[in-house]
Amino acid sequence: MIDSLRKNCGLPDEELMNILESDLYDNALVYEADIVRRSVYGTDIYIRGLIEFTNYCKNNCYYCGIRRDNKNAERYRLDSDDIFKCCSEGYSLGYRTFVLQGGEDMYYNDKKICSIVYRIKSAYPDCAVTLSIGERSKESYKAFFNAGVSRYLLRHETADEKHYAKLHPNEMSLKNRKRCLWDLKEIGYQVGSGFMVGSPYQTVHNIISDMHFLKELDPDMIGIGTYITHKDTPFANKNNGSLLLTIRLIAMLRLMFPHALIPATTALGTIHPLGREMALKAGANVIMPNLSPFDIRRKYSLYDNKKFTGTESAQSKESLEKMAESLEYRIVVDVGDVKRL
Ligand code: SAH
Repeated sequence: MIDSLRKNCGLPDEELMNILESDLYDNALVYEADIVRRSVYGTDIYIRGLIEFTNYCKNNCYYCGIRRDNKNAERYRLDSDDIFKCCSEGYSLGYRTFVLQGGEDMYYNDKKICSIVYRIKSAYPDCAVTLSIGERSKESYKAFFNAGVSRYLLRHETADEKHYAKLHPNEMSLKNRKRCLWDLKEIGYQVGSGFMVGSPYQTVHNIISDMHFLKELDPDMIGIGTYITHKDTPFANKNNGSLLLTIRLIAMLRLMFPHALIPATTALGTIHPLGREMALKAGANVIMPNLSPFDIRRKYSLYDNKKFTGTESAQSKESLEKMAESLEYRIVVDVGDVKRL
């Protein structure tokens, strides 16, 4: 079973289903995933400074705390100086990738985004800038790329049309989200995709579709996180996803995508105090601590109790290093590009 996962996604769906239907900690799977991770990335853990620069959003995803209709969200925007300050601090701390993430906020038009990116790249040419600002036109993606953005994170969220329609209002479509991912690839970005584990109405079949879609897309980064409910969304009464299923999926993804950059996500650190440590042991090789100005962190509330202190904070680099060492990995000062085989 593990061998087939390793070779490709060549497992029949039934077998995938067997693995996914169990919700236990699978030592053998985790062990194999760690071997594969070490064979490509050694013990290196790449760190990314995450700057959540706006929580305005024109979308209304049912699961997300910064959705347009959440009147309780305290909205904020960072300007170019604020963002640049985060990068300077991050650079001194040893971060060599800055991830600019936000809601879909059209206040940041192409010109604004390009000038922010250009400023960062001019000051720190040895750093990578990653964008994660949702769906835009191919022209916009091209403009960002030409301004110096080399990576883009856009989770597909779910690869199943029907499931997609249960998580999003009608004005959004899976077709457009996929179009964006293919455009980004074509332009030459290192592309990240992924999905939430345990989002409302998700079935094992949906997760299998996610695996198939990822195989087709062959992304450089794969981000998955446990779904966590936010009290001010239409899904306020839904259950959180499962930590152990998320860990299991990380291990499976590592076996299926040996080269991929896989983050131990904040959602995992939120759902369980040792969630990210477990993810790292199961094949994850990236951490994205929060580098946003401290006073706005609590406002980028995608889900309840989202962590932003301790090892979730970019400033806690020493604690991060200790955590890595305790697991027999090490945090490296490196731009951390994907290693394609
Ligand atoms: N606007 C950007 C960034 C979205 S926030 C975009 O569209 O890509 C980043 C990710 O947080 C989302 O892709 C989603 O997978 C995740 N997320 C949102 N709400 C969540 C929740 N309630 N629980 C867990 N993850 C969530």
